[in-house]
Amino acid sequence: MGQYHHENQNLVSRAGKTNGNPGWSYSVLDVEIDRGCHQLKPNNLCIAGSSTENIPLYEFNEVPMWLQHNPYVVSGYRSLLPGSLCLKSLFVWSNESINIWSHLLGFMIFVVLMIYDNAIGVPNHNGSWSDHIIVTLGVLCYQFCMVCSAGYHVFVCHSERASKRWLAVDLTGISIGIIGCYLPAVHYAFYCLSIWRDIYLIIISLLSVAVLVLQLHPHFFHHSWARTRILLYCSLVGYGIIPTVHWVLLSGGLHTELVKLFLPKVTVMYILGVIAFVFYLSKFPERCCPGRFDYLGASHQWWHVTVVVACLWWHDSITSIMDYRIQNPCIS
Ligand SMILES: [Zn+2]
Repeated sequence: MGQYHHENQNLVSRAGKTNGNPGWSYSVLDVEIDRGCHQLKPNNLCIAGSSTENIPLYEFNEVPMWLQHNPYVVSGYRSLLPGSLCLKSLFVWSNESINIWSHLLGFMIFVVLMIYDNAIGVPNHNGSWSDHIIVTLGVLCYQFCMVCSAGYHVFVCHSERASKRWLAVDLTGISIGIIGCYLPAVHYAFYCLSIWRDIYLIIISLLSVAVLVLQLHPHFFHHSWARTRILLYCSLVGYGIIPTVHWVLLSGGLHTELVKLFLPKVTVMYILGVIAFVFYLSKFPERCCPGRFDYLGASHQWWHVTVVVACLWWHDSITSIMDYRIQNPCIS
């Protein structure tokens, strides 16, 4: 992005004076924190002023290649916005509005749920301090996932470099979100089988760290790696079938009380996961009617909403298995 030069690759760096943005500025995660740059001239240079009405929106073929992810979303693109206008664009109806707000609202819901769980939910179930920690860790992971995703969609239009950096943030959030699903589930499912609980927690931690390390590969965020990335996250989610089947066998089969309680919830969770990935991969419904779902109803928006619903469902499922464990202590 011409007028915003970057001096180094650091997460936080001093960018110095720039042509369109007088004064010192800093970049955080490759988004330049600009001062007083609230309005754009036609050539994208900053001028003084403050109004969300001045944020222009573009058609698909007018934006740079690195913003052209989905040819079936034809209009409503923000492009090359300074950091301050990226934030202001939260209040502009663009093709990213639902993507941003679905996960910002999801984040807020999980903040409220975290307070509720610790103040009312866990104490009402007579939970111990370890129940507080496990439930809170799970919800914190969902919050991290949601806020990283919202951040990606806010800042993706800033510059090519920022879009890559925030894609890394978004994908890291997904990895942490998946850990947040596994951690409490394995803890309560294998509650009375602590050796298996520890083994599965270690395996899941190692797999998640392996995915995070793979992100350091120079080609990881390249378009050509899109399918590999999806396959990797599908594998991380799909791996959960192994401990699930093992847990059913160790628990005494399909007719035991706990399996009847928890297995349908696991099944619904996987169905929600499949629905989310089908939206993500198929680009349905916009591929059937390009341009019609630019602002509302596009596949990525359904993917976001399904992720929030899945996390809420899993939070409720974890609460019910926690309650079962408290009511039915382990027989030593
Ligand atoms: Zn997204």
